[in-house]
Amino acid sequence: MKQIRKNVRAVLALMLSLFACLSGYFFYAVYDNGSRWFTTPYNTRLRAAKGRVTPGDILDRNGVVLATTDESGARVYPVEERMRRAVSHVVGDVDGDVPTGAETFLAADLLGFRAGIAERAARLFSGEVRGADVRLTVDAALQTEIARLFPEAHDGAVALIDYRTGEVLALYSKPEYDAARPEGFDGSREGVRLNRATQGRYAPGSVFKIVTLVCALENLPDVESRVFDCAGSLKVDDEVSLTDSGGAGHGRVTLKEAFAKSCNIAFGSLALELGPDKLRQTAERMGFNGNFLFEDLIVYESRFPKDLQEEGELAWTGVDQGRLTAVPMHLAMIAGAAANGGKMMQPQMVLSVRDSLGGVRDRSAPKVAQECMSEEVAGILNAYMIAAVEEGTASKAAVAGETIAGKTGTAQVNSSGGRYSPHAWYVGYCASQEHPLAIAVVVENGGSGGEVAASLAGEIMRCAIQGAR
Ligand SMILES: [Zn+2]
Repeated sequence: MKQIRKNVRAVLALMLSLFACLSGYFFYAVYDNGSRWFTTPYNTRLRAAKGRVTPGDILDRNGVVLATTDESGARVYPVEERMRRAVSHVVGDVDGDVPTGAETFLAADLLGFRAGIAERAARLFSGEVRGADVRLTVDAALQTEIARLFPEAHDGAVALIDYRTGEVLALYSKPEYDAARPEGFDGSREGVRLNRATQGRYAPGSVFKIVTLVCALENLPDVESRVFDCAGSLKVDDEVSLTDSGGAGHGRVTLKEAFAKSCNIAFGSLALELGPDKLRQTAERMGFNGNFLFEDLIVYESRFPKDLQEEGELAWTGVDQGRLTAVPMHLAMIAGAAANGGKMMQPQMVLSVRDSLGGVRDRSAPKVAQECMSEEVAGILNAYMIAAVEEGTASKAAVAGETIAGKTGTAQVNSSGGRYSPHAWYVGYCASQEHPLAIAVVVENGGSGGEVAASLAGEIMRCAIQGAR
């Protein structure tokens, strides 16, 4: 009998502690994800509000009105078609077809759910409910220019951020969408609802060498003074060999030269020496396998395989291939961290919110998302990325009169069996603190990163530097 009572007590204690854990998790999840759940297009309360509230306007950082409500109560997108399409994934649409757009994601502000006491009191008297106007960080004119520059025959994405504040200046995704003509919306076209800049998962190509480099600098004290002998190929095991594109080999190269020239042999050897655990730890500190649930936007997770065993795959992972996937916005944030002394800033989409009584709340306070690397490592990475632009594969990203740092990638589309051209990548930044711009560009099936993506990024940077700043 005693034994049974003891057992009952133990089970009861276990159940109580499980219940406590579950409640704790519930409150944490509501606190952490509340606004995300709130803004899902399936929220009936939100749908009901749309009928009786006049939604606020969506403006770009310079005050250009990107969405407003006309006298008949219809939602309109007043800018000309070119701009409307260019910002379509940022603004979104009233039906929630593009669920990550501001129309849906910032609905709590636009529909007045975050109103203060004075505003609620004013509503009681006037009987009218008007939501808040939201001023985004995005520069619509610059984003329109990006759309114009983007290679016509290709899809892809561009993310451009201010690496000191985390403000998102452009978030371009192609194919575009037109919120003013939902009837022309071709939902059958693959991934048109996705914002590829924040939700597109791509093989990162040699851009990943940034992570391998940081891992090597952190773990191998002598690595900067090493010289690698590259013959163009290196046997890893019986089945797998590392090869350089072109195959001719880089000869004797320092680590810096190996990075600037994107030498697969040097970086594959480093990955083998570092091993899967160290490489994964560095990748995760830089945001891989992490959940980027930011206040103003969602960035899908970039993935580093957790079960990396085979030497062959390990070697190729350190170079650029395997099961790695990366999201353009995340890579822009990594580039930004290299420029910002190792600190990755939290991306921000909202500059300020103006309530229906005219009160303006500033929402742009910069926050550090994570410390990706030490300031010392960031300094070395910075010098290497500058070398990649000045004397390496990223030379086409150069902008006259500015110090530009970058890394290119040419990601083979494995599943295509060689039918499609590789995805062209570039990530980089302007090293001058006067123009704290970091960028990631991916041109799907665009071919060589050094040709297509680097030159596109160079043109975009030139526009951004000459523009409002
Ligand atoms: Zn090489």
